[in-house]
Amino acid sequence: MDDHDAIIIGTGQSGPSLARRLVAAGQKVAVIERKFFGGTCVNTGCTPTKTLVASAYAAIWHVVPVTTA
Ligand SMILES: Cc1cc2nc3c(=O)[nH]c(=O)nc-3n(C[C@H](O)[C@H](O)[C@H](O)COP(=O)(O)OP(=O)(O)OC[C@H]3O[C@@H](n4cnc5c(N)ncnc54)[C@H](O)[C@@H]3O)c2cc1C
Repeated sequence: MDDHDAIIIGTGQSGPSLARRLVAAGQKVAVIERKFFGGTCVNTGCTPTKTLVASAYAAIWHVVPVTTA
């Protein structure tokens, strides 16, 4: 890793955007992810949770509400 300017551990909310900025600034960046690329929000948190809630609404009321969160 001696040939990198920065090493980013984790690809959650901040990792990829920080990597993009550093690369745009001319730095050589390594990104390390131990499990799911994208982190909690897109893989097991926000997105799957909203899908689950929307599916529950659809199953109960046959209507999927529009949310803004
Ligand atoms: C069920 C649930 C629902 C949620 N819903 C919402 C919502 O609706 N709206 C909202 O704003 N937020 C929501 N959140 C919170 C949101 O998911 C977190 O705030 C956000 O993911 C935090 O981002 P992060 O980058 O700090 O961490 P994470 O997204 O957890 O990313 C960290 C990453 O680093 C990796 N990592 C950790 N240690 C190492 C290591 N040693 N080596 C290599 N990789 C490593 C992990 O594998 C992971 O991919 C929810 C969370 C959960 C659990």
